[in-house]
Amino acid sequence: MHRLRVGLTDLFSLPEDYEVALGNGGASLFWDLASFCLIERRSQHLVFGEFSSKFAQVVQSAPHLENPLVIEAAPGTHPEPASSRDVDAYCLTHNETSTGVQTTISRPGDEGQLVLVDGTSAAGGLEVNAGEFDAYYFSPQKCFAADGGLWVALLSPAAIDRAQRLSAAGRWVPSSLDLGLALANSRLDQTVNTPAVATLFLFVQQLEWILGNGGLAWAVQRCSESADLIYDWAERSDFAQPFVADPSSRSQVVATVDLDPAVPAAAMTAALRQNGIVDIDGYRKLGRNQLRFGLFPAIEPEDVAQLTRSIDWVAARVRDLSHG
Ligand SMILES: *Cc1c(COP(=O)(O)O)cnc(C)c1O
Repeated sequence: MHRLRVGLTDLFSLPEDYEVALGNGGASLFWDLASFCLIERRSQHLVFGEFSSKFAQVVQSAPHLENPLVIEAAPGTHPEPASSRDVDAYCLTHNETSTGVQTTISRPGDEGQLVLVDGTSAAGGLEVNAGEFDAYYFSPQKCFAADGGLWVALLSPAAIDRAQRLSAAGRWVPSSLDLGLALANSRLDQTVNTPAVATLFLFVQQLEWILGNGGLAWAVQRCSESADLIYDWAERSDFAQPFVADPSSRSQVVATVDLDPAVPAAAMTAALRQNGIVDIDGYRKLGRNQLRFGLFPAIEPEDVAQLTRSIDWVAARVRDLSHG
């Protein structure tokens, strides 16, 4: 726990008064937690895919909060926040893992309004400036190459203050969702209840590996090298193209690529799976003829290049079949 807190502070160049809290339950639990401890009355949500929409749904169903202000954009794009006096928290997603769209995190409002950022697939692979958020939360199974089941939050003094104030004001908070309690434990290098120790171990190994190689800038560069390989290949290809039209929104950590109808993604992934190449399926609910690639720091860019060659090889044969 101690190595993790120190390492994350270092990796994200956190200001001295920011703190790292950790608990059980993953990013999904943090949405529930935020609805109790960080959103006071009303939040604004940018919804542009599966994960960002889930947080908005959590808040919509919370009886103690007002209906959130939801700004939606079509899959493959992202909405912009709208500065509003009527909300006390902006809920942003750094990288929408379901569609492969990344955003730039910057404060839409002023000091009194919290900026809560789901950094789950972005943290450790995309640049972020701590001054632009109050809570940057994530799970360790994406860029940190560990298992799931834990949440981590990088917290500003304003976020910590909000949690303390809501609890002092008498809001009932289940103890598993109590940010103040989680933070009090984290300060002692403890957790409220027993975490998966193997997950913590894997997490800290990956974190220290990234730090040892040069930190966040190094990891970001490595992901962007993999992303260039994928997007350049898709743009050159006569059967594939990047799903995200705007190059600046194309995720450097999770790439989505549409395929021609003549190359069904299901046939592609089945053939690759038989040869030990797995987990490049598109997001099911998106319902497109699409492949989706994890480009996290643990992945060797050369493996990404080899993957594009394998896809080309299979595509040539799948197309021959459909013509014959
Ligand atoms: C994976 C993911 C989640 C969910 O994480 P869990 O650890 O399964 O709760 C939430 N948000 C984003 C952006 C994700 O990529």
